[in-house]
Amino acid sequence: MEVKKGKVCFLCDGTGKYKKPIDETKYDKQFDKYAEFLSMGEARRKALEEAGYTLVVCPDCGGTGKGA
Ligand SMILES: [Zn+2]
Repeated sequence: MEVKKGKVCFLCDGTGKYKKPIDETKYDKQFDKYAEFLSMGEARRKALEEAGYTLVVCPDCGGTGKGA
């Protein structure tokens, strides 16, 4: 497995903040819809905009923004 220095956290994209959907059901539905013709990142961003989200400390990196 390749290990890079300065790798950013996959879940929060290095921001240390995770966008948690407020309406998870709607988020999942919208994400699936957009994922058919957009990149994962774009689909996620648009689905979050529609479902609404709250910023929480990233559960993956604990807010450091660094990948494992
Ligand atoms: Zn993170």
